[in-house]
Amino acid sequence: MYDYIIVGAGSAGCVLANRLSEDPKVKVLLLEAGGPDSRKEIHIPVAFSKLFRTACDWAYYTEPEPQLGKRSLYWPRGKALGGSSSMNAMIYIRGHRYDYDHWRDLGNPGWSYQDVLPYFKKSEAQENGASEFHGNAGPLHVTNLRSINPLSEAFIEAAEQCGHARNPDFNGNQQEGFGFYQVTQFQGKRCSAADAFLHPVRKRPNLTVRTAVQVFDIIFEKRRAVALSIQQGEGSTQEHAEREIILCAGAIGSPQLLMLAGIGPADHLRSLGIPVTLDLTGVGANLQDHVAVPLVYESHQPISLANAESLRSLGRYMFFKDGMLTSNVAEAGGFTSITSSAPAPDLQFHFGPGYYVNHGFSKFKGHAFTLGPTMIRPHSRGRISLRSSNPLDAPVIRPNYLAEPGDREVLLKGLKLARTIAAAHAFDKYRGREIHPGPNAPDDGALLKHIAQYGETLYHPVGTCRMGSDAQAVVDSELRVQGVEGLRVVDASVMPTVTGGNTNAPTIMIAEKAADLIKGNKTTASHADALLRTAQ
Ligand SMILES: Cc1cc2nc3c(=O)[nH]c(=O)nc-3n(C[C@H](O)[C@H](O)[C@H](O)COP(=O)(O)OP(=O)(O)OC[C@H]3O[C@@H](n4cnc5c(N)ncnc54)[C@H](O)[C@@H]3O)c2cc1C
Repeated sequence: MYDYIIVGAGSAGCVLANRLSEDPKVKVLLLEAGGPDSRKEIHIPVAFSKLFRTACDWAYYTEPEPQLGKRSLYWPRGKALGGSSSMNAMIYIRGHRYDYDHWRDLGNPGWSYQDVLPYFKKSEAQENGASEFHGNAGPLHVTNLRSINPLSEAFIEAAEQCGHARNPDFNGNQQEGFGFYQVTQFQGKRCSAADAFLHPVRKRPNLTVRTAVQVFDIIFEKRRAVALSIQQGEGSTQEHAEREIILCAGAIGSPQLLMLAGIGPADHLRSLGIPVTLDLTGVGANLQDHVAVPLVYESHQPISLANAESLRSLGRYMFFKDGMLTSNVAEAGGFTSITSSAPAPDLQFHFGPGYYVNHGFSKFKGHAFTLGPTMIRPHSRGRISLRSSNPLDAPVIRPNYLAEPGDREVLLKGLKLARTIAAAHAFDKYRGREIHPGPNAPDDGALLKHIAQYGETLYHPVGTCRMGSDAQAVVDSELRVQGVEGLRVVDASVMPTVTGGNTNAPTIMIAEKAADLIKGNKTTASHADALLRTAQ
């Protein structure tokens, strides 16, 4: 019998496993569907896209997207210890203070920027030292890039030449401006949530970690979640939790598991023959994501990441843990408000000193650089639903990207701004021909076609188990699933709205805060009983 069972060893699950097992009297079980994080491509930063469509990847596909050329888009998701933090691009971005004040205003007390800032700081080991905005005593290493490509420096200079300010810290006093990203790395290697939070405490006797275990169902006694049905190898078994079951299976896995357990829109569940435990229509709804579109130029100078696997680069990595293999590909970026009414920046840039199109699957002979304008405050909403009652069937994913015309407008204006930046003097010595969308895309119509053909996820789906206090909300502001007991969701799915920036640091913050909520909530009836039994 365990006190807590955590489903999913991703960004959130690793944090919770660490924080909840700090108390040696508390027994914690962490279950992960994927395997250990032993592949070398997990640890060598530039290699992250080599994990795509491998055993470390759930490799989901969306349904055909109406606004994106009816394409079924590929959605990578980490399936190993560390979850998506073991295959992400390592950018450390918290979002804008508006994001969290907005969460509070939507009916979530305790989630304002002032409330969550201490949790960001708690998790952080900031290379540049502690400050009002940063912590340096946490487990998650946040560092400056070790080797910056001259093309990335040119991008920031070009943005400055176009009137944008240089920002040395997107997570400090203000988000607006252009600069280098900081990354979750340590000594030139990825620092995933597993590296930061799980591996250092794996030997705790009160923490059990099991990999290659997929959770299929949640078992209830009356309205209380008491156990999980799990598959390991050929067999299936159950694990019981004395206090709580905590879903950290991510924005796809958590709503999928709730629906498999009969918590979700009743009509949908009945249509698949799943007995309804609780009619909770918000499960799987409110799906939000960021969309990026590439603007790519040939580089006259042979200095791009196309050289990352050269002998020189391999040597530098082997002996000094620096050089191109430490690049996170999207080395530089920026934030700006492209819509005058936006409450905070609604456009982000991801600049890569290489050819990054179609998740890195498309190849280019020669050297190139990619500007990736990214729409980060979507108004469109999608949904995740079940394909069948079989837990091994991937769910149906409908992101509904760009359904709201304002979202399209942001990308269109973003592409134009990207072209302006690429035309600035700082790029003169590098800039060759425009490869994508190319010279045949002079007007809005052609750019919109380019968006439809090349727009892709920036890998930030969230919101499918939304936190709130209304009937559509899936969890309350303490992340407890509404209408049942003993069950929480703690991961990117609880975000009411997607943050304006990359989502790994916000997910880790959510788990840090959840750990405190759970610890402060120990005096549940069953725990009080247990304490009483021990005392007798
Ligand atoms: C390719 C890529 C690049 C990205 N780049 C960045 C970036 O540079 N910066 C950034 O901030 N964010 C980035 N992100 C997003 C960020 O990594 C995610 O938002 C974050 O990791 C989500 O954390 P999570 O805990 O919600 O889910 P995850 O980390 O995905 O964890 C969910 C875990 O649950 C497991 N699981 C699911 N279902 C079950 C089940 N039924 N039983 C058992 N286990 C289960 C999964 O295998 C997984 O390990 C990127 C994501 C991807 C995929």
